[in-house]
Amino acid sequence: MRYLILSDVHGNWEALHAVLAHVRRKRFDRVIFLGDAVGYGGSPNQVMGWLRSLEPEPLAVRGNHDRVCGGLDSPEYFNRFAREAAIWTLGQLEPHHLELLRALPVGPRELTDRIAICHGSAIDEDAYIFSAFDATLSFGALPQPVIFFGHTHVPSLFELGAGGDSSALGVRLLSGRRVTVKLEPGHRYLINPGSVGQPRDRDPRASYAIFDDELSRLHLYRVDYRVSLARQRILQAGLPAVLGDRLLYGV
Ligand code: ZN
Repeated sequence: MRYLILSDVHGNWEALHAVLAHVRRKRFDRVIFLGDAVGYGGSPNQVMGWLRSLEPEPLAVRGNHDRVCGGLDSPEYFNRFAREAAIWTLGQLEPHHLELLRALPVGPRELTDRIAICHGSAIDEDAYIFSAFDATLSFGALPQPVIFFGHTHVPSLFELGAGGDSSALGVRLLSGRRVTVKLEPGHRYLINPGSVGQPRDRDPRASYAIFDDELSRLHLYRVDYRVSLARQRILQAGLPAVLGDRLLYGV
């Protein structure tokens, strides 16, 4: 099975569109979506339209922004900019898109005996996996050797060697236009494919991954997109300018 893995689109249709054009000639069987379809970006309905159109339906978990933008939770714990965007997004979403957003499954999800997915961490959809300690907690919460996560918007990989010795836990940032990683048998991995619509690793290009389960091979890609147009949509919507400006720098 080959999976197309997308995370953190955040209502950025221009970035998603560029990624979909980039994958057009690549083979994959199923889409994995790690949450945060909306929030921050100016095109929530277009992104939800894509999610709805997928056939077969994606293997998805909701993100924290999906929960709040869907009106399932209060935006009071968001920072000012995220809160403003969440309230705006909730007001914009067409009823059938809102219904789909609210129905996204809460993670973590164990997809197979080899693969699990979550938005933040395996314990909490709002928690970040940045450190080896964070990774250790998530490895302990799920049995699968390969766990995909999102939320940090940083393409990265945590690797636990054979025997599960957490003192030998490796951390890698997966930067670059194209990165291939061969997963070792007996090792365990936590993998973040990066963010499609709001990268935060100082590379503004959209980020996504393809995982070949049979070959145990992970491919990460960065794709140029029309950042200025995505920024313009945010400004036209009357959302905070900083949400558009950060896209220019990938921060
Ligand atoms: Zn996010």
